[in-house]
Formats: sequence, structure tokens, C-alpha cells
Amino acid sequence: MASRSICRLALVRSHLSPNPLMASEKDAALSAAPSDSPTIFDKIMKKEIPSTVVYEDDVALAFRDISPQAPTHILIIPKVKDGLTGLSKAEERHCEILGRLLYTAKLVAKQEGLEDGFRVVINDGPSGCQSVYHLHIHLLGGRQMNWPPG
Ligand code: 5GP
Repeated sequence: MASRSICRLALVRSHLSPNPLMASEKDAALSAAPSDSPTIFDKIMKKEIPSTVVYEDDVALAFRDISPQAPTHILIIPKVKDGLTGLSKAEERHCEILGRLLYTAKLVAKQEGLEDGFRVVINDGPSGCQSVYHLHIHLLGGRQMNWPPG
């Protein structure tokens, strides 16, 4: 229980300022309880906390990840969560928005000049290393990716 609290503290710290004590992505994911509550992404959408938005339309928002894992690392989210805390919660009604998000990833990749290729990732649940429970696509590019992923 104590280690879980420490992980949570580290996650909170990671939203205050980048520093060496910042929890690893894995720690953050393992300490994040799957939930339908508002997330940090709601604050980003409401401009309550700053972010670098690179694309926006009526249904999707794309902004740079605060902890980039590649020269280009962008998160693409639906503006309305509609129960999509993660991909595992997808239902038939979400097909259209899921398609739009993938297409948005392609548009943003082009906008970012990722002509040689890129990677899209959706982490799901604790085992998938998901730390923010508002569905998002990671768009990564600008370096050679490896396979298998970690
Ligand atoms: P997940 O681990 O859930 O797949 O991805 C969540 C992502 O959100 C992580 O890559 C993390 O760096 C990013 N992130 C967390 N908090 C913030 C924030 O306040 N601003 C931005 N731009 N990205 C964030």
C-alpha cells in the first residue's frame, strides 16, 4: 500500500515539474487505477494546463507528449470520451471515432513530415502500461523504431 502511495506521489510530481524523481512510465501505469473519472487530458482540453497542440478539429485533439519517447511524440485523443477510458472499453458505437483517430494520426504524421514512417501505439490497462484513462493514440516518429517493443 505504501509503495502504491509513493508511486501516486511520483505521478503527481511528474505533473508539477520535470525532475529526476519523475516516476517511470511503467511506475505511473502500475499506479494508475483504471477509472472513468476526469483525467489530466480533460484539463488539457479545457486549457487549464498548457500543452503544445499540433492539430484540432471538432472531434479530436493532438498535442505533444510531455515526456517524449521519440523526436516526434504526439498524443491524439477524442474530445468526448464517451466511456472510452481505453481501447478495451470500445463498443460498436465507437467505430466511427476510432477510425477518425487513426486517420488523424495519419494526417498529423504527414503534417510532422514523417514521410519515412512512424509508429502508432495504444496502451491498454495496467499490463499494457496505460497511465491515463482517456483513450489516446501515441504517434511516434523521427527515429528508427525497434521490434519487438518493450
Ligand atoms: P499512457 O501511458 O496512458 O499510454 O500514455 C499517457 C501519456 O500521457 C504518457 O506518454 C505521458 O507522458 C503523457 N502525459 C501525462 N501527463 C501529461 C501532461 O500533463 N501533458 C502532456 N502533454 N502529456 C502528458
